[in-house]
Amino acid sequence: MSDSDCLFCKIIAGEIPSEKVYEDDTTYAFKDINPKARVHVLIVPRAHYANVAELATGDAGQLAHMVEVAQRIADDEFHGAYRLIFNTGLDAGQSVFHVHAHVLTGEKLDE
Ligand code: AMP
Ligand code: ZN
Repeated sequence: MSDSDCLFCKIIAGEIPSEKVYEDDTTYAFKDINPKARVHVLIVPRAHYANVAELATGDAGQLAHMVEVAQRIADDEFHGAYRLIFNTGLDAGQSVFHVHAHVLTGEKLDE
């Protein structure tokens, strides 16, 4: 998929509206449109990688930075506790093929 067809590239470019939670030079975070917890944020690199394995191979530092951003959000929202999910592959529930970390926090989560 080229970047011009990618939903999250369009969100990062501001072509589709989103509720921004955090941004810096490399990374953007916004509220999930269908939240599964009181706080459900998606963290994406501005650069397009299809999934977390491609990101780990291509730019491990960016992946580590996304974890730092998740921690920061959870520190603000819920004393540093959070769940971090990377759905990878259609059969695991990945529906957008621009790597994104789901951060679930803001309340006690079911096990
Ligand atoms: P996944 O199924 O892991 O690929 O996650 C994709 C996520 O993107 C889902 O949790 C959707 O609710 C979310 N999503 C889809 N479209 C939008 C949008 N326009 N703004 C915010 N979140 C979205
Ligand atoms: Zn993209």
